[in-house]
Amino acid sequence: MTQFSRRSFLKTSAAGVAAVASNQSPAANPIDVRKIIPPNLDDAYLGQKILCYRPMRHGSPNLSVAQVGNKVVAHNYGHGGSGWTLGPGSANYVNTLMINSQYAKELSNKSTPIAIIGAGVIGLFTAYDLNKRGYNNITIYADRVESLTSHNAGGLLAPVSMDNAPDMQATIDQIGIDAYRFYDGIAKNKNADFKGGALIVPTYFNDREDSGLEPYVGKVMQPAKEVVLDFDNGTTRKMVAYDDGIYMDTATLMGELNQYMKAHNIQIVKQKINSFSGVKEKFIFNCSGLGSSQLANDAAVIPVQGHLIMLKNQDPKNMNYMILVYFGEGKSEANQKTKRSFYIFPKRLANTAPQDIGVIGGTFIEGGNPNTPNLKEFDVLLKGAKDFYGIS
Ligand SMILES: Cc1cc2nc3c(=O)[nH]c(=O)nc-3n(C[C@H](O)[C@H](O)[C@H](O)COP(=O)(O)OP(=O)(O)OC[C@H]3O[C@@H](n4cnc5c(N)ncnc54)[C@H](O)[C@@H]3O)c2cc1C
Repeated sequence: MTQFSRRSFLKTSAAGVAAVASNQSPAANPIDVRKIIPPNLDDAYLGQKILCYRPMRHGSPNLSVAQVGNKVVAHNYGHGGSGWTLGPGSANYVNTLMINSQYAKELSNKSTPIAIIGAGVIGLFTAYDLNKRGYNNITIYADRVESLTSHNAGGLLAPVSMDNAPDMQATIDQIGIDAYRFYDGIAKNKNADFKGGALIVPTYFNDREDSGLEPYVGKVMQPAKEVVLDFDNGTTRKMVAYDDGIYMDTATLMGELNQYMKAHNIQIVKQKINSFSGVKEKFIFNCSGLGSSQLANDAAVIPVQGHLIMLKNQDPKNMNYMILVYFGEGKSEANQKTKRSFYIFPKRLANTAPQDIGVIGGTFIEGGNPNTPNLKEFDVLLKGAKDFYGIS
C-alpha cells in the first residue's frame, strides 16, 4: 500500500485552534501582537453560498506524457485543493516534459497543432506557457468555460488537500516554488501580461506544518513568525505568520488569462471530448480536472466537495490577510467523512463592488458530489468562523 506523506492530504489538527488567555497583556508578551478587526458575519453581510469540487487524485496529480492510440497525451490534472497554487509551475513542468519527450523533433516546429482539453486554471496556464514558448497553433476544447471550480476557488497559495505519494513530494514542492515566483512577479508588477491578480498578504496558520509552505522557506519565502492575533473583542489567537503569503485573485486571473487567449488567437471551442481519439490534433494536453475520471479512465480522481460563503458590505481595509486553521473531522448529513477548517481570504467574484470582499470556507468532503450537497455544512462553517473570531 502506498505510504502518503503526513502533510499530503488535509490533516486534522486534533488540538483545534489555540486560543490565548484574553487577559494576557501584549506589553508583557514578546510575541508580535497584531490587531485584526473581524469581518461582519451577520446575515446581512453574507453573500452567495457556493458549492464546488476539487479534482483530487490519490497518489499525486497526473503529470506525465503517454501515447494513447495514435495521439500523444500530456496529462496535467488532479491538483485537489492546490490547482491555483501549482497552476503555472505545473504547466511549465508538464509542457517541458512533452517538449523534451521522444516527440521533441516534431514539437520543435512551433506551428504544430496542439489541443488542450479544459479551460480551467490548468488548461489556461498550459496554453499561456506554450504560447510564451512560441507555440502559435493552439486550440482549447472545454465543455464549460464559466463558473468553474477555477473561478470559485479561494485563492490561498499553499499546498493543501492533496494526497501525494512521498516520492512525488519534492516534485510538487518545486512546482509550487516555481508558481510562487510567477505570482510574486504579478504581485510586484513585473509581468506585463497581468495587471493585477496576485497580492502579497500576511497569511496565518496554527503551525508551520499545517501551512505546507516550509519547503518554500529559504527559497522564495521568509521564515514564519510566531504572532498573536488580537480581534479587539477579548479574543486572541496564537498563530504563525508568513508575511509574504500570496493571495491569488482567481476571478481576476481567470479574466486576464481568457483575455490573453483572445489577444493571442488561441481559440476556445465549447465542446465535450469523449475520447482522445476524437480530437483532431495529434498532441493533446489533458487538463480536464475531474473530467479525467472518465476521459482518462482514472479511478484515482475523486471530487472533494467544498462549501464557500462570500461576504459582502465589508470594509476592504480590514481584509488584507488570510487565515487557515483546521478544526477536525466529522460526518456530514449524508454520512460522508468531513474534514472541517476555517479559512478567510480577500476574495471577490468578478464584477462586484469593492466592499463585496471576503470568502469564508471550508469543508473537505471526499466523494461529496452534487447528489450529496451537504447543505448544513454552510451553518457549521459560519459557526466555526464566528467561534474563531469570538463573535457571539
Ligand atoms: C472550495 C474550493 C476552494 C479552493 N481554494 C483553493 C485555494 O485557495 N488555492 C488553490 O490553490 N486551489 C484552491 N482550490 C482548488 C482549485 O480550485 C482547483 O485545484 C483548480 O481550480 C482545478 O483546476 P482545473 O483546471 O484542473 O479544473 P476545472 O477548473 O474544474 O476545469 C476543468 C476544465 O475541463 C473541462 N472538461 C472536463 N472534462 C471535459 C471533457 N470531457 N471534455 C471537454 N472539457 C472537459 C471543464 O469543462 C473545465 O473547462 C479550491 C477548490 C475548491 C473547490
